[in-house]
Amino acid sequence: MKFIEALKLRSKLLFLLVLITFGLIAISVIGTANVNAMKKNTDSLYFGSLVPIYELNEIVQIYNGELSATVFKAKASEINSDEFYSDITSSLEKIQKIWKSYESHFKRDEEIQYVEYVSMEIKNTNIYFEKLLKYAKDGHGFENVSIQLLEEKIQHIYKSIKKLINYEVDVAKYERKNFLENYDATLKQLGIVLLMVIFGLLVISYQVFKSIQDDQTELEVAHKKLKKANKKLEDASYTDSLTKLHNRRYFNMVYEREFKRAKRSKKHFTFMMLDIDYFKQYNDTYGHVGGDNALKKVASALNSIFKRPSDYVFRLGGEEFGVLMSETDPHNSSKMAQKICDTVLGLKVEHKASQVNDYVTISVGVVSCIVHPSINEEYIITKADKMLYKAKENGRNRYILSANECS
Ligand code: GH3
Ligand code: MG
Ligand code: MG
Repeated sequence: MKFIEALKLRSKLLFLLVLITFGLIAISVIGTANVNAMKKNTDSLYFGSLVPIYELNEIVQIYNGELSATVFKAKASEINSDEFYSDITSSLEKIQKIWKSYESHFKRDEEIQYVEYVSMEIKNTNIYFEKLLKYAKDGHGFENVSIQLLEEKIQHIYKSIKKLINYEVDVAKYERKNFLENYDATLKQLGIVLLMVIFGLLVISYQVFKSIQDDQTELEVAHKKLKKANKKLEDASYTDSLTKLHNRRYFNMVYEREFKRAKRSKKHFTFMMLDIDYFKQYNDTYGHVGGDNALKKVASALNSIFKRPSDYVFRLGGEEFGVLMSETDPHNSSKMAQKICDTVLGLKVEHKASQVNDYVTISVGVVSCIVHPSINEEYIITKADKMLYKAKENGRNRYILSANECS
């Protein structure tokens, strides 16, 4: 069944359709041919055997019954010669008519010879009765008619016709056997074709089903891969490649969302702007690669501080970072800002060129407040920037907090 597997789904369906069509055509052709053959068989059984047997029996009856009874009645003077004449004539006419009908049926070659013989015998027997008719017409009585001769004639014709009847019965038996055999063969043929069609249908249906399932599985796998790739792409588009922190793009999106949420909920909203101190000098001292490494260390330190799902750390650009916190009051925000400064210093990243410490330090501008409905997003960012500037002015390595009502 490899060739079916190799077909495309559309071809498989087409193949299925062709198979069903051919199966139905084959069943119709075989059915019609066999029904016709059965019709012929039934016809030959009925008109070729049963009707002739019936007719031959009728002829025997006339000889045995009507004709001999008429002779007996005439001999016993129960009927007169006119009645005798008309009864015998009518019986003989009947025999002739029935025999003609019998002869008109289909005859096999081997039968014809025997039919001709019986035809002669009938003629001879009828001649005997015609002689009796002439005898009566001539006005003779029936006393001298020999019963023995009559019985001999009747017996002889009876035997001859009976042989023909036996032959016809044998033919009927043979036809019946033939008919039953044909019938069984037809059933067998139809059964085989039906089984073949059903088997073909099952195989192709299975293949079609399998191919649909395979396509579905392939589609599902492709869909999963695509989803994964999309997620990766999305993550990449929101991630800073150097520090692996969220990037500016992501900040723009999250900041707007969280700002609106804070406005609605009227809960504290905290934004911090962070900037590494004397980083220009750091680069100048340790090189750009050294600067990158320091940036990475500071980034992972920031990441380790903010663990809550509602806290976000961003690299906003250069050596500037942003932190977003929800539902954190100024007191706790101050603590977090201090923790930032302490943790960065605690990294002990050597910074010989710094004017505030021997290690890398960071300054933080913090805004923590309940947002008034009238203010816009820019306001908080600008304010945090101002606070950062103040922290730089006030000696760096520190934070400055603005906790006034943001209004
Ligand atoms: P201040 O304490 O006032 O902030 O001094 P500063 O030197 O840090 O001042 P400024 O913000 O002007 O300098 C930022 C420097 O950070 C400039 C640039 O050399 C450096 N920088 C910006 N982005 C990167 C980066 O991706 N990698 C490295 N290695 N350095 C960067
Ligand atoms: Mg800067
Ligand atoms: Mg700086």
